[in-house]
Amino acid sequence: MIFELASMESQFCVICGQSTSLYNYGTISCSACSSFFRRTVLAKVPIQQCPHQDACYTPENRATHSECKYCRFHKCVDVGMINTQKYTNLTKLINQLSVLDKKRSYTCANMMLPPDFRLSSIFDYEHIKLIKKTPEVRFISHDWGCVHQLASMEFIKTFQFVKFLSLQDLQVFMKTAHFNHVIFASAMRSFGIRQGYLSFPDGSDVFPECIKKITCYNPEFLNRIRCKLMGRIIELNINPEEYLLLSAIILCNPAAVNLSVKGRTLISSYQKVYGSLLFQYCCQVNKKNGPLRFSELLTIFHAISQTHHDIGQFFLLFQMYQPNAQPIQLYQEVIDYMM
Ligand SMILES: [Zn+2]
Ligand SMILES: [Zn+2]
Repeated sequence: MIFELASMESQFCVICGQSTSLYNYGTISCSACSSFFRRTVLAKVPIQQCPHQDACYTPENRATHSECKYCRFHKCVDVGMINTQKYTNLTKLINQLSVLDKKRSYTCANMMLPPDFRLSSIFDYEHIKLIKKTPEVRFISHDWGCVHQLASMEFIKTFQFVKFLSLQDLQVFMKTAHFNHVIFASAMRSFGIRQGYLSFPDGSDVFPECIKKITCYNPEFLNRIRCKLMGRIIELNINPEEYLLLSAIILCNPAAVNLSVKGRTLISSYQKVYGSLLFQYCCQVNKKNGPLRFSELLTIFHAISQTHHDIGQFFLLFQMYQPNAQPIQLYQEVIDYMM
């Protein structure tokens, strides 16, 4: 939406510094910058990385480096264009997320790593190629864990903001963001089949079978991992639409260590967009207590991060007490990278 400034006074575009009297996406910005922003958001391909140390659209440099799309776009994000844009339609977004989540769920239940799988393929924008599991293949917990993690990473790669992250940011972001999503999606699968504890799609326990031979694991600790988050989901009775929007918020986690400032700003801008869409949804569905429902739903993040922390503790114990029960080298690499 474009507005002319009331006074018709000439001001300066906050992106490129050109004189303008227009107001677009909540900022004083010229028509060239606002149409650049719209085109970039809608483009399907990743944005080209900056050739000049990510510093082209500063007031000092923008005259000489105006061709850099990466810095121009991130300048648009920095001044708040993502937060104010209304390109996201709630119903359409829920439908899109639902299709992608079904695909993720299918991958978790039916796919496996190909024999020539290389860990490096996780690290780029391309999709990971998994193969269909044949009926004679029997998964152990490490197989399930790997496939769930890869399926969540593929799910992350379908989000719009991923194509605006530098490759380095994408790698540190996925490492941090995906595991909370794995936990939440697995818990919601169990909830969907009215089961009060975490398990894998074939009904097997989330812990390796061999832990039963060793007594170092406190059964209450293991049950906390299996059941605590489930308890909170059951209390909140999270519906499928709420789950999808919460998933999007969980994924846009700007807290990853070593993210660049541009990457962090981008991810938190998208998190705000998904947060406001969940708020909008809660208010549409719960006419009287939408804001209350919204804040109740956000408490799930605490339960997820507690479970994440407990699983981390479990893996530490597992590596200490059962070094011989470690998975094959490739799986170990995948797990080490992703934990
Ligand atoms: Zn401009
Ligand atoms: Zn640049």
